[in-house]
Amino acid sequence: MYIDPHVHMSARTTDDYQAMAEAGVVAVIEPAFWLGQPRTSVDTYKDYLASLVGWERFRASQFGIKHYCTIGLNSKEANNEPLAEAVMEILPLFLAKEGVVAVGEIGFDEQTALEEKYFRAQLELAKQFDLPVMVHTPHRDKLKGTILTMDICEEHGLLPSQVVIDHNNENTVKAVLDRGYWTAFTLYPQTKMGSERMVNIARQYGSERIFIDSSADWGVSDPMAVPKTANLMLQSGIPQTEVHQMCYANALAAYQQSGQIAAEDWQTADFDQAELFEGNSVLRGQKPIKSSEA
Ligand SMILES: [Zn+2]
Repeated sequence: MYIDPHVHMSARTTDDYQAMAEAGVVAVIEPAFWLGQPRTSVDTYKDYLASLVGWERFRASQFGIKHYCTIGLNSKEANNEPLAEAVMEILPLFLAKEGVVAVGEIGFDEQTALEEKYFRAQLELAKQFDLPVMVHTPHRDKLKGTILTMDICEEHGLLPSQVVIDHNNENTVKAVLDRGYWTAFTLYPQTKMGSERMVNIARQYGSERIFIDSSADWGVSDPMAVPKTANLMLQSGIPQTEVHQMCYANALAAYQQSGQIAAEDWQTADFDQAELFEGNSVLRGQKPIKSSEA
């Protein structure tokens, strides 16, 4: 049983959902982020957030996968101040919705003053809504940005146990673990962090507070990264209990602080593709299947 705690399923196909379900993924967490192309208005942002708590949640359910999301203003679009101001106003409407397990993904991209301003404002929102925080760390100047991120979280009075620092690598893992944060790794198929490197990190640091995700989106990425890496870990001799921690239990422990996700949720992952969401199904005219027939 696996959880992919960072995956942008809106950008993926129903084949991905099917393959993930077959490989044992029971739940996914989809962070709000940017779309590759800058949004031009708060209205499209609003519709996007609405789809995360609505249509996408339904779409996942039709393949027997539980879908949760995080809500936030991403760091890239924090640099568009008029848009960012307007988005900040609508975030509270969505943070209170069912299945929202954190404020995120937020943090730094280019480490600008505006990114910092909206990161701080959203940490305050997390405290107000009593939600954990999912942090995106920058790809450039990663260690510096990661340390700054943790400093700012602490300045705002958040506990490390309430914050997931994501997109770690060999250079950041020690700093993040040492300060008591949840330490997440995104596994990329070709560049950045790969599965073999993750096996080495697991060997060196163990499994406490460490977990993995695919961050699969519209770019080159692999929504099967969690089950694939879990298999590689097992083949490499990492004990089953540790693999379970890194590919399921630790992510659950981090995000269940929201009160919006629990293992009971997927004890009955029954589905019926004849169901509709606001009049629409995922079928496009094909014959519906039920979980009992799948
Ligand atoms: Zn992401």
